[in-house]
Amino acid sequence: MAIIKVMDEILANKIAAGEVVEKCASVVKELVENSIDAGASEIKVLLVDAGTREIKVVDNGKGMDKDDAVLSFSRHATSKISSEDDLYNLNTLGFRGEALASIAAVSRVDLKTCVKDVGTHVIIDGGKILEVSKGDARKGTVITVSELFYNTPARLKHMKSLYTELANITDYMNKLALSHPGIRFLLQNNDSVILRTDGSSNLLKVIQSIYGNSVARKMISVSGENADYEISGYISLPEVHRSSRNNMVTIVNGRVVKNLEINRTINDAYHSYKPDNRYPVTVLNITVDPSVIDVNIHPTKMDIKFSKMDTLLELINDMIVSKISNRELIPSASLEKEEVKERPKYAEQFIKLDSKESVIEEVSFPLDELIINEDIVSDNADYVVSDKLMPEMYPVGLVHGTYIILENENGMYLMDLHAAKERCNYERFKKEMGKPNIASTALLFPVTIELSNDEYIILKEHLNLFTDLKFKVEEFGINSIIVKEHPTWLPTNNLEDSIRTIIDVIIKEREFSIEKFNEKVATMMSCKHAVRANTHLTIEDMRDLVEDLRCCKNPFNCPHGRPTTIFYSNYDLEKLFKRSGFDTKK
Ligand code: ZN
Ligand code: ZN
Repeated sequence: MAIIKVMDEILANKIAAGEVVEKCASVVKELVENSIDAGASEIKVLLVDAGTREIKVVDNGKGMDKDDAVLSFSRHATSKISSEDDLYNLNTLGFRGEALASIAAVSRVDLKTCVKDVGTHVIIDGGKILEVSKGDARKGTVITVSELFYNTPARLKHMKSLYTELANITDYMNKLALSHPGIRFLLQNNDSVILRTDGSSNLLKVIQSIYGNSVARKMISVSGENADYEISGYISLPEVHRSSRNNMVTIVNGRVVKNLEINRTINDAYHSYKPDNRYPVTVLNITVDPSVIDVNIHPTKMDIKFSKMDTLLELINDMIVSKISNRELIPSASLEKEEVKERPKYAEQFIKLDSKESVIEEVSFPLDELIINEDIVSDNADYVVSDKLMPEMYPVGLVHGTYIILENENGMYLMDLHAAKERCNYERFKKEMGKPNIASTALLFPVTIELSNDEYIILKEHLNLFTDLKFKVEEFGINSIIVKEHPTWLPTNNLEDSIRTIIDVIIKEREFSIEKFNEKVATMMSCKHAVRANTHLTIEDMRDLVEDLRCCKNPFNCPHGRPTTIFYSNYDLEKLFKRSGFDTKK
């Protein structure tokens, strides 16, 4: 027994193992991590009916001798952890010696493995070893788990639908591929290929395999470091966002981890560049001395704590903000179809199961025009950030009092009047609110506002929020307040309505930071005082608005993250009218 060590009991007890074999994804995870531990550079996962009928993992790793092969199915056998310290070190992937034994207990396992041209074949059924014989001299290991749960029918019933099973496995494999771009992966269900990576160590190519070309083209490479952390990876342009947080992938020392604070920081860094409830696609590789982290090893999740969290979050925030705040971000009117994450295509590509040389056959990955987003902003220290990120553009007219049409030599722009005005208001209000001495204006006719009794109780508790904003507010009779002064930045039209809105924010939020409160007030006020649809504007008015917008720090989105402007390049226009390739004079 050269490689596999029997874990001692103390170590085993330290692991919050629990029974792991609940989902096909857990089985896949265990088998694939074994392949990675065996040093495989190619791993093929073949499923029949989302793994419920069969899971087969083929690798080109170092394989096992006969003793190890048999021992690998006994409890507390592991080749992965040799000391307690390893538990805190993320360099070893696996941590449970029990999993293979648990899997074997509820399925039929067929293991073919080979070391130095000596092959071993083990068959186990419901935990009982049926056969140990000489096998083929083929490099690596092939393990097939079938009839999973056949002897525990109740459990099988509880399994989610096949599609959910497959989605779980796919999600797991995607993350594994992102954290191991140097390994060639293939995931196939029945006859359809779900994921295929080329093992070229190019992270962007893995992103392309998972999300498709249109997303890969909109990824920006990022990197940064401080005394404790080194980060590299890719973040999506703000126009790419998804409804799920699941596409923010954090990898620490080669292992995918979950950390809510990191996710929140990433999402906050995009604030107002995209809707807050939509999430970017990011893959961040963090390298850190293992002594700085505390890993809570639980079979079902990888939770991680950093002893120097603040500096890490600051680094992540700065890295993202500096990348997205200095570039032109006008989305092109995309003429291609929106790329929706596709369900696995069936019978699309077939893979030969027994290709001799390599576990996975060669496939070429077209990468042309993919690296166009490698940074255009120089990281040079003396790089001067232009104060106008949006190009000059000239208004031509107004559609339905809602959209401004603009042009310049590059093409045509459509601007959402409300969104543009909202952005201008928002940046102006925020600036005014941030001043140390906010000016206030006395009202000639104070405004009284009547509230319901419960609203009044909450509001009375938080009256200081009004005072901080430089309102002068007093209690006024039963359940009423009177507003005598208002901050000068707030437009006086519809003042009562504005104050009502602020009261609503206070009542709804209850628990919040001043920062978040101010942010909300600025956003709501900017919307309230932005032009409504069906407004008449002269070309002059439009020109002023565009100039105002161009002076904004982020002229590309309204404070809610909607785009203000969409671009139709001359080429797009020609394509739309089928002019390209034709004689344009026709
Ligand atoms: Zn609005
Ligand atoms: Zn908006």
